[in-house]
Amino acid sequence: MSKMMRVAVIGGGVSGLAAAYVLAKEGVEVVVYEREETLGGDAKTATVYGAALDLGLMVFTRV
Ligand SMILES: Cc1cc2nc3c(=O)[nH]c(=O)nc-3n(C[C@H](O)[C@H](O)[C@H](O)COP(=O)(O)OP(=O)(O)OC[C@H]3O[C@@H](n4cnc5c(N)ncnc54)[C@H](O)[C@@H]3O)c2cc1C
Repeated sequence: MSKMMRVAVIGGGVSGLAAAYVLAKEGVEVVVYEREETLGGDAKTATVYGAALDLGLMVFTRV
C-alpha cells in the first residue's frame, strides 16, 4: 500500500515554484507557503502605470 506524500515548500520564488511544480507533476501533494501577497520572490512582474515591468531576471542562464 503506497502512502500519499505531502510536501510543504517555504517560499514562492522561482526555486520554490519550480520545486512545487516538479513535485506536483510526480503526484505529490504540495502546499507553497509565501509570506508576501504575490508569488515570484526576486523575479516577479509588477504593474507600473499600467505597464508590466519584470523585476529581477534579465537573462536566463543554462544552470
Ligand atoms: C535586480 C536583480 C537582477 C537579477 N538578474 C538575474 C539575471 O539576469 N539572471 C539570473 O539568473 N538571476 C538574476 N537575479 C537573481 C534571481 O532573480 C534570483 O536568484 C532568484 O529569483 C532567486 O529565487 P529564489 O526562489 O531562490 O529566491 P527568492 O526569489 O528570494 O524567493 C524566496 C521567496 O521566499 C519567501 N520567503 C522567505 N522566507 C519565508 C518564510 N519564512 N515564509 C514564507 N515565505 C518566505 C520570500 O518572500 C520570497 O518570495 C537577479 C536578481 C535581482 C534582485
